[in-house]
Amino acid sequence: MRLKVYRYDPETKQSRYDSFKLKLRPGMTVLAALFSVQDRFDDSLSFRYSCRGAVCGSCAMLINKKPRLACRTQLKAMLDRDSMELKPFAGSDEGETWEQGEEVLVEPLPSLPVLKDLVVDMSRFFECYKKVEPVLKPGKEPPEREYAMQPEAVRELEPYTNCILCASCFAACPVSGRNQAFLGPAALAKLYRFAIDPRESGDGSRQLQADTAQGWWACEFHTNCRAVCPRGVPPNVAIGRARAELQKSGHKAPKE
Ligand code: SF4
Repeated sequence: MRLKVYRYDPETKQSRYDSFKLKLRPGMTVLAALFSVQDRFDDSLSFRYSCRGAVCGSCAMLINKKPRLACRTQLKAMLDRDSMELKPFAGSDEGETWEQGEEVLVEPLPSLPVLKDLVVDMSRFFECYKKVEPVLKPGKEPPEREYAMQPEAVRELEPYTNCILCASCFAACPVSGRNQAFLGPAALAKLYRFAIDPRESGDGSRQLQADTAQGWWACEFHTNCRAVCPRGVPPNVAIGRARAELQKSGHKAPKE
């Protein structure tokens, strides 16, 4: 099989695709294939990784035009038929093609500037995240011992705590791709996680934080976020619920 890899040289500002012939080993992941390219063909190939176990979120990249974690994506599965269905998003229908069954195409995440090869500048993604103040703000004095939480409350907020900040949802979101000001799915999911946390005040202030044209209301429910999330986080559900709660108290989509 061949691995077709996007290359970008920040010094010359030139991009190209390089193709590497690899022997497919059982269980080989895309990340392992990238290491093999580094070892055998070109040690200047740049990509991010850390945990190699789908925990750190560093190795998210476009694999066959869909955001995925390289460490948990099997090459064999990418040579077979791809069952993930996504709505079109930035760059998904353009650019390089690949020969299904023979090649796997690896590119950097879209909607974020490329620094080198497969490494993108995540600043915009983390700026959005910082804007929602993703820390617990207790509504009252903390108890002397631990907080007691009802199991249903834990079950409700748990899916949103699983985010590993890989930015796959951000990259696959058609709105984030064309609107630089949109907070994006990951930040909004995190905000909702605090909005429903019983340890916070519950006074609706968290919902109001994103009651803006670039917050909850900018989402168009394409649901790519949920489809690509490697941790099963459903940002579309969080956004829909936050909007429904705001609508109950008379809020409407603000005019731009
Ligand atoms: Fe990645 Fe999912 Fe978090 Fe989005 S919500 S950043 S896809 S882990």
